[in-house]
Amino acid sequence: MRTLNAEMQAQLESNDIEFYELVTPDKLVERGNSKNSGECHLSGVTHPNRRAYERTKIRNHYALYSFDQPIIRRSLMAEVFVLGGGTPTPTEFRFGSAHALRIGDEVLMFDCGPAATHKLVKAGLYPTLVDNLFFTHHHFDHNIDYPCFLLCRWDQAAGHGSELNVYGPKLTEEITQKIIGVGGAFESDWQARVNHPYSQQVFVNRGGALPRIPPAPKAKDVGVGEVASGKDWQVTAALAEHVQPYLDSLAYRVDTPEGSVIFTGDTQPCDTVRELARDADMMLCMCWDEQSVMETANEANGQCGTTGAAQLAQDAGVKKLVLVHMGPSLSKDTPFDRHIEEMTAMYDGQIIFSEELMRLEV
Ligand SMILES: [Zn+2]
Repeated sequence: MRTLNAEMQAQLESNDIEFYELVTPDKLVERGNSKNSGECHLSGVTHPNRRAYERTKIRNHYALYSFDQPIIRRSLMAEVFVLGGGTPTPTEFRFGSAHALRIGDEVLMFDCGPAATHKLVKAGLYPTLVDNLFFTHHHFDHNIDYPCFLLCRWDQAAGHGSELNVYGPKLTEEITQKIIGVGGAFESDWQARVNHPYSQQVFVNRGGALPRIPPAPKAKDVGVGEVASGKDWQVTAALAEHVQPYLDSLAYRVDTPEGSVIFTGDTQPCDTVRELARDADMMLCMCWDEQSVMETANEANGQCGTTGAAQLAQDAGVKKLVLVHMGPSLSKDTPFDRHIEEMTAMYDGQIIFSEELMRLEV
């Protein structure tokens, strides 16, 4: 265990840096809030690209490990984490959809696909950092880890922090109740943790105070318009066109002082998402496959492919297009040169073919 030394602390204070990162030339060593940097836990995870990330223990307590001659730089206020960059088809490197957006010390999560809770931790975040979760729609590749996330966040919080706010289209309240409410599929889990003396001991050791309160996430079905807001962010939803009327789908826009980010969820190019994304700094857009392949296979309805995403970004005036939700065929094509050429012919902004656990500055 280490803490910031006096010199680093003075450097932080003299520069009036509130949120910061400690970095060495090849890795990010620590990220934290200078007002709360006294208690740190040693841990680390490695990104598939060999970039090392620290793991957050609990809110405002950050990981540290040994380093040589670190430098302190101001951490950008807003950054996106691609947690799940895939589709319903599992592959070695991608499966399902989930993203996080850090704004200062708040983390918003968008969708909760396969293993999203674990991927969140691998990305250097932690479930208890997330107070607001947004669902684009309720296909399993976007929500199957929701029971895990709900129970893990509640369990790890040990009675501290806020209840989770959950927003999404129709079914969000019903699914939440069926998972974790009285009579829900996982009621027996939390009843055991609340009432069994063995579990109570773990809870107390983790800093909790008895009696233990059952989980009570605040789930809300939402539609288009303003959905939620926080200290430095505002979330607005628009209709996405996917598999209606069986499932409703929303796209989200997050406006922050550092820029605006669009999470399209699953959608075909459409007017409502185009208008939502107008002049945004970054758009995470689904991209199932190469457009011409999708058209030949009659799969171009209800979803975007390479050039569909590029044209949508161009028409909306988006500055940076991040392709996510990429299917197995497209994923095999790395480094995507052929697709980039085709897409840059119609889109003036920057294009990023994302990987899982990628971290992007807004
Ligand atoms: Zn879907």
